[in-house]
Amino acid sequence: MNFSVPDFDVGIIGGGPAGSSMAAYLAKAGINCAVFEREIFPRPHVGESLVPSSTRVFKELGFLQKMEEAKFPYKYGAVWTSSGSTKSYKHDLDGLAADSKADIRFAERDQPGVDQIHTYHVDRGIFDNMLLHHANGFGAKVYEGVAVQGVDFSETPYAAIKYSIGKKECSTTVRMVVDASGRRTTVGNQLKWRIKDPVFDQYAIHTWFDGYDRRAMAYKENLTNYIYVHFLPITNSWIWQIPITESVTSIGVVTQKKNFAARKESREQFFWDCVASRPDLFAGLKAAQQVRPFREEGDYSYAMKQLAGDRLVLVGDAGRFVDPIFSTGVSIALNSSRIASADILQAMETGNFTREGFNQFETTIRRGTRNWYNFISVYYRLNVLFTAFILDPRYRLDVLKLLQGDVYEEQEPPVLARMRSIVTEVERNPKHVWHNLLGDLTANAFVAAGA
Ligand SMILES: Cc1cc2nc3c(=O)[nH]c(=O)nc-3n(C[C@H](O)[C@H](O)[C@H](O)COP(=O)(O)OP(=O)(O)OC[C@H]3O[C@@H](n4cnc5c(N)ncnc54)[C@H](O)[C@@H]3O)c2cc1C
Repeated sequence: MNFSVPDFDVGIIGGGPAGSSMAAYLAKAGINCAVFEREIFPRPHVGESLVPSSTRVFKELGFLQKMEEAKFPYKYGAVWTSSGSTKSYKHDLDGLAADSKADIRFAERDQPGVDQIHTYHVDRGIFDNMLLHHANGFGAKVYEGVAVQGVDFSETPYAAIKYSIGKKECSTTVRMVVDASGRRTTVGNQLKWRIKDPVFDQYAIHTWFDGYDRRAMAYKENLTNYIYVHFLPITNSWIWQIPITESVTSIGVVTQKKNFAARKESREQFFWDCVASRPDLFAGLKAAQQVRPFREEGDYSYAMKQLAGDRLVLVGDAGRFVDPIFSTGVSIALNSSRIASADILQAMETGNFTREGFNQFETTIRRGTRNWYNFISVYYRLNVLFTAFILDPRYRLDVLKLLQGDVYEEQEPPVLARMRSIVTEVERNPKHVWHNLLGDLTANAFVAAGA
């Protein structure tokens, strides 16, 4: 094998949002890169509702116009609802008037780098395919139907990406590797960096419905295109309602492992039982047509011991996954590639491909995901607190900042520190009016899994 010139400067494993945005950033800057994607696109994928921090990446990559032309439903904000049976939601604390319903609009807070008041709900088959083609348009090579088996880092000065085409074993040399293989975490697994999250063990079951009248659950008029999170009477469980087109809606139930039945048929029954706890939703969905089979995602939360190594970075879900409650996955994928691509471009200039060269990326993403993790932990531990903060003018915009995906700059946003201190207060005081509303997930969540 001739190592004098590698086949590519950068080899990217996976063509989801993390991989294709990375390819677009690098190819746009003139880097010779290739994406190896195991599927043939378009392929279906969970994760359909975006947050506004995605817009910055779309703008930088000249992709915003294509998002507009695709006519994905606009997403202006989010709504949280409960069945209203939880009377104790009405207790006040510290001037915080909690309620069982809340909504928020992204337009309420200006966000640096984002000059539109909407983001999008997307059909991931279409969206991922568009972004991968966009990267290809900048000159990134794209190989679909190629499943990477592993990477050999011993063949210095380059790395060798291993895969097979039919019965033929193949190897492609690169200066460095980007693992963007999503929750398969191809290289992270190979290097044994993956740590299972000891706290979050959620499962999800989801499908699409055509003809569901979203007005059935609309909390206020004109809010039918928002993402809806419907709390369930089962602890730590909720339903997402995401518009995919004018008439198609994605519905998913998220719950803890202990609630999820072992048998497939029972799990579909579980979906309907959960939906039945919200009678309006149940009636609306029963009157609609289910247009996709049920799909399941399970026990998906984990962290990685490292997000970078010599000649390697891990972006998007390949680096970490917590929980989809705030629809952040795609945004984190896009922004982790935005941030990592700056370090990679620097490495291409200096020739320094050691882990230290990717320090800016690793530090920034760890800070952002730690903030997400803590925010999600607070939410699951005491979700009454979340709606209380949303409804309180003292905190509303600070919470919105987190919901917009603005999480990377501050070590710990003050609003998060305040929420955490209230949770601790409620945990310590069994007589507290909110004590019996504490969720099952323990406060250890704050220090779990490399957070
Ligand atoms: C239940 C649930 C609900 C969610 N809801 C939302 C939501 O509403 N909004 C949101 O933003 N996010 C959501 N997410 C998260 C979202 O799905 C992910 O965060 C997002 O897809 C991450 O993008 P990615 O590019 O890192 O990974 P992926 O999108 O998973 O892309 C990885 C790609 O790598 C390919 N690949 C894998 N292994 C290999 C290999 N060995 N060789 C070659 N290719 C390979 C895969 O085929 C895939 O195309 C949700 C997740 C779950 C589990």
